Amino acid sequence: MTDLLVRKARVPGRAELQDVVIRDGRIAALAATGTHLPEPAAGSDEVVDVEGRLVLPGLIDAHCHVDKTLWSGPWVPHSAGPRLVDRIANERGRRTDLGLPSPEYSAALLRHIATLGTTRVRTHTDVDPGLGVAGIEAVAKAAASVEGLIDVEQVAFPQDGVIRRPGTVELLEAALDAGATTLGGIDPAGVDDDPLGQLDALFEIAARRGASIDIHLHDTGSLGAWQFGLVTQRTIAYGLQGKVALSHADALGTVPDAERLRLIDLLAESGVALVTAAVYDVPVPSVLELAERGVTLAAGSDGIRDLWGPYGNGDMIERAMHIAYRNGVRRDEDIELALDCATHGAARLLGLESYGLVPGAPADLVVVPSRTPAEAVVSRPTRSLVIKNGRVVARDGQLVAA
Ligand SMILES: [Zn+2]
Repeated sequence: MTDLLVRKARVPGRAELQDVVIRDGRIAALAATGTHLPEPAAGSDEVVDVEGRLVLPGLIDAHCHVDKTLWSGPWVPHSAGPRLVDRIANERGRRTDLGLPSPEYSAALLRHIATLGTTRVRTHTDVDPGLGVAGIEAVAKAAASVEGLIDVEQVAFPQDGVIRRPGTVELLEAALDAGATTLGGIDPAGVDDDPLGQLDALFEIAARRGASIDIHLHDTGSLGAWQFGLVTQRTIAYGLQGKVALSHADALGTVPDAERLRLIDLLAESGVALVTAAVYDVPVPSVLELAERGVTLAAGSDGIRDLWGPYGNGDMIERAMHIAYRNGVRRDEDIELALDCATHGAARLLGLESYGLVPGAPADLVVVPSRTPAEAVVSRPTRSLVIKNGRVVARDGQLVAA
């Protein structure tokens, strides 16, 4: 029996409108509307006619920090100084008074982004000697409260450094026991001043525990570029190709052209992915260069209304617009590369075995009133319908009752 039939869907790459048959939470078949599929028996199926609207695979936020958010809470004017170390210190000083990490704020944000068509997130959760793994537990509680709406995977994130904060290595491993699946890192040189120490610790644990690695690398210029080599060499040495990512990777935008291309080739050869958020004035990787050279690029919101800044709303179509705009691209096929960062690129980063608008994939879909993916990116329309695991979870920007 068909569980859900989505009629008259505009599917990228297919000329005719399609009917999408969803069974047991997965896409069972796609066929041109009115041609192949038998009419469902009356009363046996839910049928949704999307009247020619565009259907995209469920959006993925591959880098956010839902443990830090103040979403649904008080408006807190920004109070940090201008440097990375200032923001870290500001957060350390204020988070407890503001009730962070808050499972309620995290859950409110996750519900909000589910209405925007995001069906999976990878969120970096602070792990440090002050908090221990309380943040991991808080996000796990929030994730449990939105089960069936959005899938949540956690990175154990040493925001304040690894080596310079004794006990953090052990806490990162404890975070894996508490449910995290990826080890984070942060500027092994710029924050820790011990790049070999941080990276050797992360890779040893990841290899032994079967975890992935995703490192915030803000270090610029030759210092950042040098750490690309340290990461890619270890990725190959430990056999972790396809399981390692660099987030932000500001160095790519702050080195000469020939050096940038060398770094991109290092990533391609070692299977290390990149994640960009295209926030503020942070350099944004070239979607064209990375696609041409075969490097996976994924997108994330980074901070959403937190002590790091007031911006962000979790809208991954809007994030794709920022990436496209900051790349200066105008052609449909190039704008679609930006959207790919929040769909197929992110799915590759996360190692999802089955994803997309294909039979067998989980039925995670978002429907928008657009004619092409590029039009969706530039217009950022209200999401008409969000389907998670074959169930309609949101309509016209609002959650539907379970
Ligand atoms: Zn981040």
